[in-house]
Amino acid sequence: MRLSEREQLSALIVARIERAKADIAALEESAQPIAPDNAIGRLSRMDGIVSQGVSKTALVTARQTLAALRAALARSADSDFGVCTECEQPIPVERLLLMPESSRCVACAGKQG
Ligand SMILES: [Zn+2]
Repeated sequence: MRLSEREQLSALIVARIERAKADIAALEESAQPIAPDNAIGRLSRMDGIVSQGVSKTALVTARQTLAALRAALARSADSDFGVCTECEQPIPVERLLLMPESSRCVACAGKQG
């Protein structure tokens, strides 16, 4: 990987981390338990419970993404950054630009499902 690509990727990771933090803050807000007094009617309470469940799932995903991004940022200075942890082949820069948190190539990531 060229130095310019490495710099571009670490800047991208920093930006993604900021976005993930903002996403998590927003999701934490909407995943708050709904107080029974807040329910205007039975239907709106049901809607609230459904969207709360969706937010919780999204929150788990967002936290995993943030952890993976932080790990990627820590790795970005290493010589093996951008190298697949499974097959040790270089991960295409195009993939890293799309998913800078990925530590495996498409083929290896696909194997685990
Ligand atoms: Zn691989």
